Amino acid sequence: MDFKKEALQYKDALLKDLKTLCQIPSTMDMSSAKDGQPFGEMPRVALDQMIAIGQRDGFVTDNCDGYAGSIDIGEGDAVFGILGHLDVVPVNKTGWHYPPFDCTQDGDMLYGRGVADDKGPLLAAYYAAKIINKMDFEKKMKIRVIFGTNEENGSECVAYYFKHRPYPALGFTPDADFPVVYGEKGIARINVKGHFAPNGLMSFMSGDVVNIVPGHAQAVVDSHDDLTESYQAYLEKHQLTGEIEDYHGKTKLTLKGVSAHGSTPELGQNAAVMLAHYLVDHVENDFVNFIDKYFYEDVNGKKLGVFKEGHMGLVTCNLGIISYSEGKGSLSIDFRLPHEMSEEEFIPTLATTFTMHHFTSFDYDWTNALFVNPESDLIKNLHQAYVDVTGDHEHGPQCMGGGTYAKEMPNCVAFGAEFPGHNNGMHQNDEHILIDDLMDAVAIYAAALYNILKK
Ligand SMILES: [Zn+2]
Repeated sequence: MDFKKEALQYKDALLKDLKTLCQIPSTMDMSSAKDGQPFGEMPRVALDQMIAIGQRDGFVTDNCDGYAGSIDIGEGDAVFGILGHLDVVPVNKTGWHYPPFDCTQDGDMLYGRGVADDKGPLLAAYYAAKIINKMDFEKKMKIRVIFGTNEENGSECVAYYFKHRPYPALGFTPDADFPVVYGEKGIARINVKGHFAPNGLMSFMSGDVVNIVPGHAQAVVDSHDDLTESYQAYLEKHQLTGEIEDYHGKTKLTLKGVSAHGSTPELGQNAAVMLAHYLVDHVENDFVNFIDKYFYEDVNGKKLGVFKEGHMGLVTCNLGIISYSEGKGSLSIDFRLPHEMSEEEFIPTLATTFTMHHFTSFDYDWTNALFVNPESDLIKNLHQAYVDVTGDHEHGPQCMGGGTYAKEMPNCVAFGAEFPGHNNGMHQNDEHILIDDLMDAVAIYAAALYNILKK
């Protein structure tokens, strides 16, 4: 079977469905959350649209109270699961060269929020399942394509789904990288709050979501000195851009950093941390002091005392959201941890540091690391499909920073759809994917499903 050729027959239909999904701004919006749309109106609209696609194609569907949906393809009791998501991260108001909530083709590239994370790859897997369903061979299992609506904000969607629906026997999630990911770091998300004497700091804000390196920060300070010259010098010294202006008799400073995914903070430049590093010399505020002391030039938790290097790499640390106003300060931090770092070791160390520095409230979410034997049949079958379609023998199964759906389901690993050496700009401005990559993903998923489902 030439899966690449087969995939291309579905190209127009897939691109049309992708456009329809991308035009739905399915970011979480708790202001419109209610029964049946637990994460807001638009995630539910996207869920209904994907269900409509499944029904159009004649498959059995399920919307599981608006948390996550599924489409069953094929026959049988045993189920192979494909787990993707329809929600997307918010977009910046500036910086996009294409309409963010659309799917725009420019040359051989598609642009739009969700084309790569994760609407495009989810549809690629769905079309692969359709190809397999049409093929005449005896299959061990049916395929269930499951799509959540809250992956970017904690995956409560599939937690609910799997509480009310059985787990598939095994599966993959098309929400990361090719060739295939057999190990994912654990994740710890920390939220801390405290009270701090203002001492010149009126407000300080940066970041929208915890798993993105903030690309923008702003602060308002009450300073006797004119900060214009020193701020310009600071920006120049660190090759940063920003502005300083009068703000109702106070001084407002803004700073631009470089946004990146929170699992790879070393690829970004944290605007909040860089602004704190300037402010520390101009206000006497313990909130600012804390940020500067523990986060400046350290994205590996060394200063916080939680550094470790394991089989899957280093501890990483992203200060994702900071908020300070009228003396009340809060921080949200995203840590990625190799499986050698335990909750028992990590949390008490960190909690002690925060409580020593005026933080009175400490909450956290912990997700264990995932480690599937790279010699297992699942990994071998998936990797072989990748090699067969791409001819790439060079890249083997790998480990990553974690955070995919794979952890939400037993016997599940992350499989595509970003190719080695390609950067689809997920979570960033101008998110994109090559049409060829998307169609190759369809072929790889079809080849993988064939390897796994044939008797
Ligand atoms: Zn994703």
